[in-house]
Amino acid sequence: MSGRHDTMTEQTPVTETTATKVPTLPDAQTVTSVQHYTDRLFSFRVTRPQSLRFRSGEFVMIGLMGDNGRPLLRAYSIASPAWDDELEFYSIKVPDGPLTSKLQHIKVGDEIILRPKPVGTLVHDALLPGKRLYFFSTGTGFAPFASLLREPETYEKYDEIIMTHTCRDVDELTYGRDLIADLKQDEMMQELLGEENLGKLKYYPTTTREESPKMGRITTLIENGELFGDLGVPALDPATDRAMVCGSLEFNLDIKALLEKAGLNEGANSEPGEFVIEKAFVG
Ligand SMILES: Cc1cc2nc3c(=O)[nH]c(=O)nc-3n(C[C@H](O)[C@H](O)[C@H](O)COP(=O)(O)OP(=O)(O)OC[C@H]3O[C@@H](n4cnc5c(N)ncnc54)[C@H](O)[C@@H]3O)c2cc1C
Repeated sequence: MSGRHDTMTEQTPVTETTATKVPTLPDAQTVTSVQHYTDRLFSFRVTRPQSLRFRSGEFVMIGLMGDNGRPLLRAYSIASPAWDDELEFYSIKVPDGPLTSKLQHIKVGDEIILRPKPVGTLVHDALLPGKRLYFFSTGTGFAPFASLLREPETYEKYDEIIMTHTCRDVDELTYGRDLIADLKQDEMMQELLGEENLGKLKYYPTTTREESPKMGRITTLIENGELFGDLGVPALDPATDRAMVCGSLEFNLDIKALLEKAGLNEGANSEPGEFVIEKAFVG
């Protein structure tokens, strides 16, 4: 009567006595800092797997364990540069988003899942040599450029780097604005990137809803020439200009049309060109 089932239950190992701590998540990395900017935006840093190699501008899959016991993963640009000891991410908080409704509550010491397989097209290898490099972004599309702006290769390859970031409200620019201010003030960054090189960087933030010194969609400001007038640079030219684009699908398509109209061709890892594009999110 005792039967096999009872015996097995008795013998099922009880893990409380296990001496070594096993990671609770597969591919687990530990959160080292978290910073919130608005009720929709935050950034965080995690430990970096020793074996992870990536090119500044690439993205990986990260996430948390879902309620069903399976990993819930999403694509995230690595916002830190390839040389950094840790990994940084800049994230949206979607109120009912399967991942970010939970991810927004992470704290220092918590674990996240990180699949160490970086990919992406916003990399220097996918662009032909040029003189002026534009980074066009909206919202969290700033993230891959947060990596590339801290990458020495960016300044070695170009005479001028123009970072445009468009958001609805002024607060949404904070992460990018602070990062650029730090670049120009931080001694370690100045030493790494070169003080003279940092002079090549021009930052062009705009808002579409809340009042700010520069308002308007970047597409409008390209079309009416204000962007070039404000920065004192010539209009887009395929002989000298290169671009990387990261925003919503609609934004990407609008910028792509403007770049193609100016004679620039889209590139890829397999065939470098004059501009490259990546979606900041799907939907
Ligand atoms: C190549 C790639 C790189 C990405 N990099 C980042 C990144 O660096 N930071 C980041 O926050 N997200 C990034 N995303 C989006 C990310 O993968 C998730 O969509 C996001 O984390 C929300 O996850 P979720 O499960 O909460 O909601 P989801 O179910 O994934 O999304 C729900 C809805 O929220 C909206 N949404 C999702 N992400 C964003 C966003 N970033 N900005 C505005 N609206 C959004 C969309 O309308 C979407 O349909 C990237 C996506 C891709 C394809």
